[in-house]
Amino acid sequence: MFISKKALAVSPSSTLAINSKFKAMKAEGIDVVGFGTGEPDFDTPENIKTAAKLAIDNGFTKYTPASGTNELKNAICYKLKRDNGINYDLSNIVVSNGAKHSLMNVFTAICDPGDEIIIPSPFWVSYPEIVRLADGVPVIVDTLENSEFKLSAEDFEKAITPKTRGIIINSPGNPNGMVYSKEELKALADVALKHGLYIVSDEVYEHLTYDGHKHISIASFGPEYKEATIIVNAVSKTYSMTGWRIGYTASSEPLAKAMANIQSHSTSNPNSIAQIAATEALIGDLSAVEMMKKEFVKRRDYMCQRINKIKGVSCKKPQGAFYILLNISQLKGKTLYGKTIKTSDDFGEILLEKALVAVVPCSGFGNDDFVRLSYATSMETIIKGMDRLETFLNEAF
Ligand code: PMP
Ligand code: GLU
Repeated sequence: MFISKKALAVSPSSTLAINSKFKAMKAEGIDVVGFGTGEPDFDTPENIKTAAKLAIDNGFTKYTPASGTNELKNAICYKLKRDNGINYDLSNIVVSNGAKHSLMNVFTAICDPGDEIIIPSPFWVSYPEIVRLADGVPVIVDTLENSEFKLSAEDFEKAITPKTRGIIINSPGNPNGMVYSKEELKALADVALKHGLYIVSDEVYEHLTYDGHKHISIASFGPEYKEATIIVNAVSKTYSMTGWRIGYTASSEPLAKAMANIQSHSTSNPNSIAQIAATEALIGDLSAVEMMKKEFVKRRDYMCQRINKIKGVSCKKPQGAFYILLNISQLKGKTLYGKTIKTSDDFGEILLEKALVAVVPCSGFGNDDFVRLSYATSMETIIKGMDRLETFLNEAF
């Protein structure tokens, strides 16, 4: 059967694959601990669910404009002013089916075949695949754990070629949990501006920053920065709305028009009921967000402190998002329970098999010395998982 080269080149999302495996094991009654999924364990706040129920009762169940309702676009503009200090008009906004879909629109709109997009590594697994699907070429630039996994302006500039079209900046970052400071962002943005590049700023974890670290949007630096930046955001993480599938972009008007056109032929509007729910999320009560953030801090602190007492692994304390990168480099070449650990996939497999703990190997995230642990799960689960990891590694040494 013929399948296109483009389709054959796409690998499945490892984050979603781990999630499916975890859920299937749970359904079979296996007592597995899941640190795989990047989704908050909290329920969607009540005010948001009520708004959606009302939308159904009021018959808001038909097509809306393809790029989203004016009400939701207004709420997004309000949010961008309130949280990020940036003025946008409705014509700058495109609402899509989650940030993943927004990213697909972005790269389809900015890449001609062969155009290069710079991606600092470790990166979220879907970035290179989305760029490739849009006929672009991902150019991976490594960053180091000792430099907080942050890309320097020098390394960014060195990776630029005549084919470079843009860079992805994801702060707070998945999987590394780091938050760029204003100065660091400014230095990167200045390089982008000097070379006429787009800055794709993935801000889906913006509200999840800890210990005084603050998220800043590059688009807030001034009109030229705003013009070059494409903000990608979603209600998925902040409001525990991963399944509702609402993401959005804020960009220059011509680009927004191009993305709206693409969307009008590919998916039409995002779900009408979810748009009502997202409008409520953005303009309504924010207390649930603060509650989740406080809980994430406790979980992160506990997990980090436990990990750094376990022989053979280590981690740096993340500054944002809800992921920890577990450094497994010391385990490489060792034989654990009869299996020689050569890759992060080997470690993930044996940990799941012998200790019933699901993690995401970072082979798909551009750095095979790590596996990713999500702490967007209950404290009880975290304690159980850390106990298992500790026993697993103690017995191995
Ligand atoms: N960007 C990053 C950095 C992510 O971790 C995710 C994961 N969900 C997304 C984008 C996609 O978000 P959504 O669920 O809204 O598509
Ligand atoms: N972004 C989350 C993660 O990294 C959700 C899964 C996905 O879309 O990749 O786990």
